[in-house]
Amino acid sequence: MAGSTRPGPDHPEVSTATGEPLERAQRDVVALGIAVASIILFVGVAGRVMPQVVRSWMGLAHRPDMLLTNALLLNIALVIFGWRRYEELRREVGVRRQAEQTARTLAETDPLTGCLNRRGVTPAIGQMLDAARGQDQEVALFLIDLDNFKAINDRCGHSAGDAVLVETGRRVQQLLPRDGVCARMGGDEFACAFPFDAGDRARADRIAAEFLGAISAPIQFADLTIDVTVSVGLASSHQPGAAVASPDAEMLIHWADIAMYHAKKHGRDRHAWFEPQMESDIRFRNALESGLRRGVAAGEFVPYYEQQIDIQTGKLVGFEMLARWISPDFGVVTPEMFIPLAEEIGVIGELSESLIRKALQDAQIWDDELTLSVNISPIQLRDPWFAQKLLRLLTEAGFPPHRFEIEITESCLHENIAVVRSIITSLKNQGVKISLDDFGTGYSSLAQLRALPFDRLKIDRSFVTELAREGANTELVAAIVALGRGLGLPIVAEGIENDEALAVLLKLGDLKGQGYHYGRPEDAEATLQRLMGQAAREVPHGGRSKAAAKRAAG
Ligand code: C2E
Ligand code: MG
Ligand code: MG
Repeated sequence: MAGSTRPGPDHPEVSTATGEPLERAQRDVVALGIAVASIILFVGVAGRVMPQVVRSWMGLAHRPDMLLTNALLLNIALVIFGWRRYEELRREVGVRRQAEQTARTLAETDPLTGCLNRRGVTPAIGQMLDAARGQDQEVALFLIDLDNFKAINDRCGHSAGDAVLVETGRRVQQLLPRDGVCARMGGDEFACAFPFDAGDRARADRIAAEFLGAISAPIQFADLTIDVTVSVGLASSHQPGAAVASPDAEMLIHWADIAMYHAKKHGRDRHAWFEPQMESDIRFRNALESGLRRGVAAGEFVPYYEQQIDIQTGKLVGFEMLARWISPDFGVVTPEMFIPLAEEIGVIGELSESLIRKALQDAQIWDDELTLSVNISPIQLRDPWFAQKLLRLLTEAGFPPHRFEIEITESCLHENIAVVRSIITSLKNQGVKISLDDFGTGYSSLAQLRALPFDRLKIDRSFVTELAREGANTELVAAIVALGRGLGLPIVAEGIENDEALAVLLKLGDLKGQGYHYGRPEDAEATLQRLMGQAAREVPHGGRSKAAAKRAAG
């Protein structure tokens, strides 16, 4: 059954909506009718004329009746004509049928891999489901999606991408159980379905594991060895708890698609069975996604600011901008929820730009010594024009680059390091500072740390909050601080939540710090109030703070 095409209910052979084959059949019948009528006529006329002709040749009678003789000759011509026409039409119909069959095969087959396509496989799965229902069987559907296929195309070229698809199609067909069907559903996605005994999910699991193993073997193309992994979504036609008890082919494909998305989201190179809960998660995610797209256009994202303090003197040195989404549907949403989604759907650049623009505007009224620090996503650092875009924002706002800082995480170091280095160098040349955020949570080597000219290390808050625990291991934080000193980099400790953590850090020397101990992130208005209050305390006798003066000036 694998890879085969068959006439389905979608492709009736005898008539189409235009009625063309029907017309042809009618013409066939007319031609045949003429031929048959001519033969009958021939038999009648020849029966009378031929004896007269024979007798006339033998000299036994006069010349035969001329009218009848002519009618006979005409009749013979008609028989020959009718018969030839009938034969021609039969041949024509045969050729057309063959062409229709070829067109149907092409329409249902993927030309690159030779597998069925979505159109071809859907009725086949439908038939399999019908058959399984009567035999106490379930149908398993695997949806197999290559991980990072775009990167293969980009890095190795499209012919390498094609070779990967062909080889994957071949492997899928090879592994397919004998009573299964498989198809390329489009792009880098394959599907296969097969029946199994009700309740024997272990078999389907085993086959899925085999698929993962076999398809993930490296593929050789020219002198390239291409590593591929796949994510597989599995769905079974018997799914307790699902809204639909007896899914059709489309529904089964939809379930497997949801499970495949789940497998992708949880790290790729794995398989996941569909569970009804996943459907509501997807609905929520879709609502979040459309809300996010709308929200970016409507300017619902606002900068909040977290104080950064010199922990020895307690002096405010700057703010880190942290994004918040004030959504009419979901309330205040934290970045941990929407940043990954914005990255995934490709709006992170636009979102970040609008936030930075707002933050630069807010920071105009702050004191001239205060710095502004913003978080930058690894996705943004893939854009070779990123440095130019950022510098343009600074120029437009008239904000001095030396007061501006970007925070990047260790994951950026594993991306295209050449592009990242050139971006960082351009920004540094203009005076912008670069911090390595969440230090200690990634896998950067010392070599990578030295390869990029960072200005600061930010110890991840998970290490710092730990310091408050009694008997906590302070050695690790001390080691990170020593490492920073060794590399000549100032350190910022994130997540200082209380006096205990601060006391430990104070013993480690000159550090900057931030955390709930100093205050929660606040919006622009609250930040300004804080700055004015602070300035009023510092200038008690009638002098106006810079923030107050700038604000009064509008
Ligand atoms: P981050 O850059 O490490 O930011 C610090 C996070 O720690 C913030 O969470 C802050 O609210 C939280 N935090 C600060 N002090 C404490 C503390 O004492 N205890 C605890 N438990 N947490 C503390 P938030 O605002 O939810 O941001 C989370 C992450 O989202 C940020 O981590 C950053 O990586 C990312 N992010 C925020 N804004 C942006 C943005 O505009 N662009 C990008 N690309 N990422 C952003
Ligand atoms: Mg940060
Ligand atoms: Mg951080």
